[in-house]
Amino acid sequence: MSTGAIRGSRIGAGPMGEAERGEAAPRQTVEFFCVKDHRTTLQFAIEAEVPLEWDCPRCGLPASRDAENRPDAPRIEPYKTHLAYVKERRSEEEAASILDEALETLRTKRKTGEIIF
Ligand SMILES: [Zn+2]
Repeated sequence: MSTGAIRGSRIGAGPMGEAERGEAAPRQTVEFFCVKDHRTTLQFAIEAEVPLEWDCPRCGLPASRDAENRPDAPRIEPYKTHLAYVKERRSEEEAASILDEALETLRTKRKTGEIIF
């Protein structure tokens, strides 16, 4: 056996193209399932440590090896609740009115000569 033919646990087609010649280290096929029912099939070297989760290449959600126990979608809420929307809206308005007040104060002060530009 030549030295360095198989180095470590490199998987897939390496720069030497060894995988394509079918001489690569034995591999295992692992399937991952995401909550959106996408199935991702990946190959790992037999000695490689297969991760328990993998990001689904189709939707980006975490996928699990256990189809019966798929990871939840990340806690990023795609939709704002109505309340959150209202709150945000109000704070925008508040910010606007605060700005108005500030400008008003500024104008008043300018008129009364407290501030000289
Ligand atoms: Zn998916």
